[in-house]
Amino acid sequence: MYFDTHAHYDDNRFDSDRDELLSAMPDSGVGCILVPGCDVKSSENALALAERWDFIYAAVGIHPEDMGGMQEGDLERIEALAKRGADAIRYGPMKPVGLTDPATGRRPGANLQLRKENSAGTLLNLVGFQTNLKFGEQKRVFSMIPALENAEFVRYGVMHRNTFLDSPRVLRADFSVKDRPELFFAGQITGTEGYMESAAGGIIAGINAARRLRGRGTLVLPRETMIGALQRYISDATPKTFQPMGAAFGLLPPLDEKIRDKRERYAALAERSLELLALTDTQ
Ligand SMILES: Cc1cc2nc3c(=O)[nH]c(=O)nc-3n(C[C@H](O)[C@H](O)[C@H](O)COP(=O)(O)OP(=O)(O)OC[C@H]3O[C@@H](n4cnc5c(N)ncnc54)[C@H](O)[C@@H]3O)c2cc1C
Repeated sequence: MYFDTHAHYDDNRFDSDRDELLSAMPDSGVGCILVPGCDVKSSENALALAERWDFIYAAVGIHPEDMGGMQEGDLERIEALAKRGADAIRYGPMKPVGLTDPATGRRPGANLQLRKENSAGTLLNLVGFQTNLKFGEQKRVFSMIPALENAEFVRYGVMHRNTFLDSPRVLRADFSVKDRPELFFAGQITGTEGYMESAAGGIIAGINAARRLRGRGTLVLPRETMIGALQRYISDATPKTFQPMGAAFGLLPPLDEKIRDKRERYAALAERSLELLALTDTQ
């Protein structure tokens, strides 16, 4: 088997016969091809090829001699491509899922969510626009949005970061502090992330504080439940690499029986969790 470690099949010189050429590769003994991107566009093209052909792998990056010609935001775009693939930008907070216009049956290309920040409805938050763009650029770009042409920008977007404890070192799975069992932490400061996760953590920490006062043992939900899995994650993860975690099916122990269909697998995991929860004393 051959492994072509550097091939630019994204180049427009292959436009006329790329499909024909690539579909012949496996029969010609070529097992893998690495298509390296040299700038933002060719990185996107390399990823698109990798998505289409099983035997193509993509690398994203910028050729050293092109570094001088980089535009504002190119590096962030390359990083986003490397992390999440070519569709990262299209599938962000602007994806109009479930927003088909009932009058026309059309789904818009993108949507923005404006969240009311005061009771008068004069202060609105542009949801999901954490960004590192300079404030002047934010004003220029966001003012291009038709409804925001005349908006006054009260506060600009900044990237958020979570402040969290070194929980695997200092917390138990019941959210109490190892050295001070009467002290509990709750919410995202424990290293969970998200609305549901923080609220659930608060409920469990509250139950446990009450149990402790009454001299009872504390509650750690079964590891097969999402909250139980998060309780274990924050207390068992490797301290050196510990990072906040939201609910994720990957945290749950696998099912005894292998289910290939993702939807069915998730339903079975949820079912197992509910069954175990019903057997747990959560008071
Ligand atoms: C921009 C953004 C978008 C998000 N979107 C989502 C989403 O779509 N879905 C989702 O599930 N999660 C989302 N999250 C994450 C989610 O908001 C948090 O994980 C969750 O709100 C954390 O809840 P919490 O109660 O633990 O902490 P927080 O909501 O941060 O509450 C902590 C509170 O403590 C107060 N406080 C801090 N220090 C002190 C002090 N010394 N004295 C008194 N009070 C203090 C703070 O002012 C704050 O009110 C988002 C987060 C951000 C930043």
